[in-house]
Amino acid sequence: MLNDSDSIHQPGEDLREYLRSRENRSLYRYRLTLESPQAPRVTVSGREYLAFCSNDYLGLANHPELIAAVCEGARQYGVGAGASHLVSGHSRAHHLLEEALASFLRYPRALLFSTGYMANTGVVTALSGRGDAIFADKLNHASLNDAALLSHARLSRYPHLDLAVLERQLAASRARRKLVVSDAVFSMDGDIVPLPSLLELCERYNAWLLLDDAHGFGVLGDQGRGSLAHFNISSPRIIYMGTLGKAAGVFGAFVAAQEKIIEMLIQCARSYIYTTATPPFLSHALLKSLELIAGGAWRREKLARLTKLLKQECRSLPWKLLPSDTPIQPLVMGENAKVLRVSEALRQKGILVTAIRPPTVPEGTARLRITLSSSHDTEDVMELGAALREIDRDME
Ligand SMILES: *Cc1c(COP(=O)(O)O)cnc(C)c1O
Repeated sequence: MLNDSDSIHQPGEDLREYLRSRENRSLYRYRLTLESPQAPRVTVSGREYLAFCSNDYLGLANHPELIAAVCEGARQYGVGAGASHLVSGHSRAHHLLEEALASFLRYPRALLFSTGYMANTGVVTALSGRGDAIFADKLNHASLNDAALLSHARLSRYPHLDLAVLERQLAASRARRKLVVSDAVFSMDGDIVPLPSLLELCERYNAWLLLDDAHGFGVLGDQGRGSLAHFNISSPRIIYMGTLGKAAGVFGAFVAAQEKIIEMLIQCARSYIYTTATPPFLSHALLKSLELIAGGAWRREKLARLTKLLKQECRSLPWKLLPSDTPIQPLVMGENAKVLRVSEALRQKGILVTAIRPPTVPEGTARLRITLSSSHDTEDVMELGAALREIDRDME
């Protein structure tokens, strides 16, 4: 596709061609510009839409107590961190949040990263390199795959949740250090990894397990402590990564692990070392967010009720919801063009649901990724169900 001589003689021509071909295959991506806060009702180009797209599962992204905490944090710590953590950017607000996260997750230590993408890159490259081996579920988040490539370790990917294949790969590996990496809740499918069996394999073959709980933290388990609490599991072998921009409603990410792992990350994780610390007021607000998560059992109960209702609402549709008990409820349609058509028809009815296409999901499994938030109401979910049924009738 990218031909050198072309790009020298006609700058941009090859890019234009590439972009056109994406458009022809219904793969072109456009952004929406929100004029309102993230919420079940958002404003785009002056029109209000009912939205089922965000990862704001607990409805905290626009919570008044968090807005107040941000203002208070800014008054106390200012706006910018001004430096990286290892220079002079590590503030007391960061430190308090790390301590609160470690204690919430019952780990000895936690370390903040700017984003989940950077946390995954940092952990994987700090713990594995040439001569090491990484084993990854094929449906893992892109950041885990990119991290593995960046590490130069040998990467083996196993079919989604196929632990028999993983076991064969682990048994065959002679690598010095083995790292298994997996989403805990798969971001485009909503299903949950069978953690007890996965951990058992890691123990048998002496591998570390990096668990990416971007979609489980705050949502699953007692007090929203995530996938580990959901399975009532803890192990020094598990390196836990949680993000703070989804259920926690703010921004950022963290890794919880044993003391020696956290120290390794501080010394060696380049995505930790070579970047400016996040604004301390975010950490200040996240302390409040942790309280809302822990005390918000009603939000998780409401999510479970709405999820059940959505499944009922979708029962008579020709498209099937993937089996998922999390607020990620993907309605699989297959063809890219079909998903775009349904997504567009919903939009005309004032409803936003993101069409997810390859390469984010495998070829032929394009889907509407419906996500629920505890700030949705019963009526919202019924409105979505009615709209989908109507679109299905009109398309025949
Ligand atoms: C969103 C997400 C990330 C990245 O987290 P950010 O903080 O948004 O960079 C990593 N892993 C999974 C599974 C995710 O869904």
